[in-house]
Amino acid sequence: MKFTAEHEALRKTVRDFVEKEINPHCDEWEEAGEFPIHEIFKKLGALGVLGIQKPEEYGGMGLDYSYNLVAAEELGLAHCGGVPLAIGVQTDMCTPAIARFGSDELKRTFLAPAIAGEMVGCIGVSEVGAGSDVAGMKTTARQDGDDYVINGSKMWITNSPRADFICLLANTSDDKPHKNKSLIVVPMDSPGISFSPHLNKLGMRSSETAQIFFDDVRVPQRFRIGAEGTGFMMQMLQFQEERMWGAANVIKALENCIDQTIAYCRERKTFGQPLLDNQVIHFRLAELQTEVEALRALTYQACELHIEGKDVTKLASMAKLKAGRLGREVTDSCLQYWGGMGYMWDNPLSRAFRDVRLVSIGGGADEIMLGIICKMMGTLPGKKRD
Ligand SMILES: Cc1cc2nc3c(=O)[nH]c(=O)nc-3n(C[C@H](O)[C@H](O)[C@H](O)COP(=O)(O)OP(=O)(O)OC[C@H]3O[C@@H](n4cnc5c(N)ncnc54)[C@H](O)[C@@H]3O)c2cc1C
Repeated sequence: MKFTAEHEALRKTVRDFVEKEINPHCDEWEEAGEFPIHEIFKKLGALGVLGIQKPEEYGGMGLDYSYNLVAAEELGLAHCGGVPLAIGVQTDMCTPAIARFGSDELKRTFLAPAIAGEMVGCIGVSEVGAGSDVAGMKTTARQDGDDYVINGSKMWITNSPRADFICLLANTSDDKPHKNKSLIVVPMDSPGISFSPHLNKLGMRSSETAQIFFDDVRVPQRFRIGAEGTGFMMQMLQFQEERMWGAANVIKALENCIDQTIAYCRERKTFGQPLLDNQVIHFRLAELQTEVEALRALTYQACELHIEGKDVTKLASMAKLKAGRLGREVTDSCLQYWGGMGYMWDNPLSRAFRDVRLVSIGGGADEIMLGIICKMMGTLPGKKRD
């Protein structure tokens, strides 16, 4: 990956934003279980950060994915995972399909305001009975005149309590599970939408998460993204950017854990010497930093392939898998060296330990990534490639 002066300028913009507008408030937002998402998104929109690789015609910067990767990396320097997650949902989870396959009307009505930070979006795929098994979801959108009438529910939806629209995956026919789904943009103020109370999460406390219920929610059929029945395919494509974003976002967050642990272990003395002088500790931290560099290389390779327009499914799945596994390893190992301090709720390592745990679950659990990689390797029983 060759970074230019433009990449570095964007990196500095995002890093300054994290330092000035996010980090001073993280403790308060984590405690409150929310942050002023519209206010923060408007500021990010003004900087162009919500539309880095989106078309210029709709207010985006029209840059390639490497710039997005740089922004995702810098957001990892936030002192909490919840705010970057909310931003990632907006840029890489609920808008890629609209940008790639949406009509001009959808782009003007939802994408342009999302890029400007005037609208907050969310992505509705998971259901109570269908998280990993996306094909098994039950929410329906039945045609009625020029409209769809939507019934069902979506579970664990990030940003949903504050969102202005949802990019919703729904069954629009009784065809086979991979051919009966459509992505539909639904305004969140539509009559018939209601929410559970905020879900009480292990981590990502500052991001708001709820279950959404759809009870005869009416939306024009022209709010469908692309052709009817192609939703599963579009969502699988959209997942690739979500997974690369997830991997990129973890890199600096993990480095930050290692750096903070080095600083702590340099100061903290046991048996008359700094903790860091124990070979078992400085060797372990060197090993973890080496692993983070390997994650960086893998993520950059996936990004380069994506920019070339090649199928990135295998590498994006590998990067997401590695990010989840390494995230658990780094935060757990570092927390150990903080001893009792690491076990305190407000300790930075304790927060990272809780926040990063999501990476192995959300956007496709580790085992789902392994299944995809096996499919691409031709080792999944009964699903061998030619
Ligand atoms: C904080 C948070 C935010 C989220 N935000 C969103 C969002 O904005 N939008 C959205 O649509 N979803 C969201 N999700 C949902 C998330 O994507 C799902 O939780 C995830 O896909 C896993 O689905 P599940 O929870 O139903 O787990 P299940 O499908 O019940 O699986 C449970 C576990 O079983 C294992 N497993 C599953 N299948 C297999 C298999 N075939 N082989 C071996 N092991 C397997 C995995 O370890 C998995 O973690 C969010 C979740 C959380 C916790």
